[in-house]
Amino acid sequence: MILVFATNNPNKLKEVQSLVPSHITIKGLKDIGCTEDIIEDDPTINGNAILKAQYVKDNYGYDCFADDTGLEVFALNGAPGVLSARYAGPQRNAHDNMNKLLIALAVQSERNAQFKTVIAYAKSDTITTFEGICKGMITKERKGDDGFGYDPIFMPEGYDATFAQMALALKNKIGHRGKAMHQFLEYLQKK
Ligand code: IMP
Repeated sequence: MILVFATNNPNKLKEVQSLVPSHITIKGLKDIGCTEDIIEDDPTINGNAILKAQYVKDNYGYDCFADDTGLEVFALNGAPGVLSARYAGPQRNAHDNMNKLLIALAVQSERNAQFKTVIAYAKSDTITTFEGICKGMITKERKGDDGFGYDPIFMPEGYDATFAQMALALKNKIGHRGKAMHQFLEYLQKK
């Protein structure tokens, strides 16, 4: 079975490929010849996931799933949220984004946050969505070299390590994307 995942992010492709059973092959956008940037202009995480999956379905004809993720920091009323990728500007730089967040929280003792992933699956004429949440807190400094995005400053609840200090298998098990993927895979199995 081949599933198209609407991303060009090699880290996400690696994470997701490691989650699916071996009879499922994940193809990224480059694999289907889609090299343009899909404009993510919906004001919600849910809406952006749907928009990406629908775009690929409409323009390339493949059944497709897409994910959209946001980091929601409670002391910042849910920011950066849907703007997580561009929090520090259009350059979409993880280093700049983390710096901005650490500065925004410098005087805060409340550092609780959560990652939220929505996966949207566009098949035939229907779109189905799946949500995964991982609660945790923002550390005071970066720790660890693995992962991507905000991983070095996000410590999941119940652990004394950031996502960037964890093996991918553990991040997948407790993380937002892994949880949403788990629901998606259960749904596919029932079909
Ligand atoms: P996207 O829209 O799903 O690509 O994610 C939006 C932003 O959240 C990007 O800046 C990513 O780097 C960040 N992000 C998404 N997933 C993760 C994750 O698993 N760990 C850390 N940051 C992430």
